[in-house]
Amino acid sequence: MAQRNTWQRERVREALADAGGFVSAQGLHATLRDENTGIGLATVYRALAGLAADGGADSLQSPDGEALYRACVSSGHHHHLICRNCGRTVEIEATAVEQWARTTAEKHGFTAAEHIVDIFGLCASCTRAQGERVDH
Ligand SMILES: [Zn+2]
Ligand SMILES: [Zn+2]
Ligand SMILES: [Zn+2]
Repeated sequence: MAQRNTWQRERVREALADAGGFVSAQGLHATLRDENTGIGLATVYRALAGLAADGGADSLQSPDGEALYRACVSSGHHHHLICRNCGRTVEIEATAVEQWARTTAEKHGFTAAEHIVDIFGLCASCTRAQGERVDH
């Protein structure tokens, strides 16, 4: 099937790359609206879902259950460390997690096991900025 809205999808991909960290469809749509691209929210949702399906973007659920997307540098399987305040993202490999996931699945007779493990927290600079306001 021919893709009629290729330029829109391309524009969404660029905006996602510019965003750096994980962003929601709404967040990305707000950016595109500021640039007067005329791209609607439904198109942003579709483009992001398409990119995620093709492996052009990583997607994950925020702790609030919102779908977030990012144009990742690594194309292979990897994990993320995400700042819940500023969205700064570090791509990480987690050999221990890979091993644990495989052996745990095997122990229960599961095959073709997949897993999603992402760590949300406060990055170093956000932690510094919050200073004494962080309650222990
Ligand atoms: Zn990633
Ligand atoms: Zn941060
Ligand atoms: Zn993994």
